[in-house]
Amino acid sequence: MRNGSTLCSGGDMNSIEREWDREEVVVLVCEYFRTKWFTKEETDASYHFLSDFLRARETMLTGRPVTDTFRNYAGIRMQSGRIRCLDPDSHYSGMQGTKLQKAIVQEYLENPAELTNEADRIFEKYADHGDLLNSSGFDSQLLVKAIPIPILRRMACAAKKVKPERMTVSSLRYFRDQSIAQYTKYLAKGICQLCGQKAPFCTRDGEPYLEAHHIEWLSQGGEDSLDNCVALCPNCHRKMHELNNEEDVLFLKNVVLKRVAEP
Ligand SMILES: [Zn+2]
Ligand SMILES: [Zn+2]
Repeated sequence: MRNGSTLCSGGDMNSIEREWDREEVVVLVCEYFRTKWFTKEETDASYHFLSDFLRARETMLTGRPVTDTFRNYAGIRMQSGRIRCLDPDSHYSGMQGTKLQKAIVQEYLENPAELTNEADRIFEKYADHGDLLNSSGFDSQLLVKAIPIPILRRMACAAKKVKPERMTVSSLRYFRDQSIAQYTKYLAKGICQLCGQKAPFCTRDGEPYLEAHHIEWLSQGGEDSLDNCVALCPNCHRKMHELNNEEDVLFLKNVVLKRVAEP
């Protein structure tokens, strides 16, 4: 195993990085558990996102630019490897977690919801200041699944304020649409919003399989927004496109109204 990044070849004191703080470890631990069944490509995208996020956060906190090595992709990857060694589900070992990592993994295992809330608040806190999603460091090609839920929610909610015809870059357009679809599916929590049944199967990474559907079809002038999007099982999705029964449409509109009313 290589030495930690604190040992820099030049011996320059300025390049010696400070210890990880609680906020950093909390987001790393929660994102580790959220993404642990992702494909390698998706996990890599998540490391890139966390690196961008923690680097942007540091600049906000210190008012100074960070060094190239500060919380870079390689660093995030290594620390996530340490956290994986602390996961009782994992057969991966060989790296030692830090004292703080051990404590926070323990907190997560005892109460995942509470630690996830803490991580959500951290993402919210710095997304507010940094406009992270528009920063140059943020790669719009990044897989949507890599985006932590609070940031995904911001993107999906902000998306409706932008007129689709103004989106000239197709990859950005795709990415925006995906944020609405992905966040809609997240809100549905694996339950079809028309028939109320569980998703028929789970995808390879354990996510319930649902499809995003626009209540007012885009082809008929429907808005591409969170308020016009629901998550359906494949059967109900086919049904909507075959029949588009008025009562089903009204039902789904009501589902969305109730959903938006929730905090
Ligand atoms: Zn259904
Ligand atoms: Zn559809």
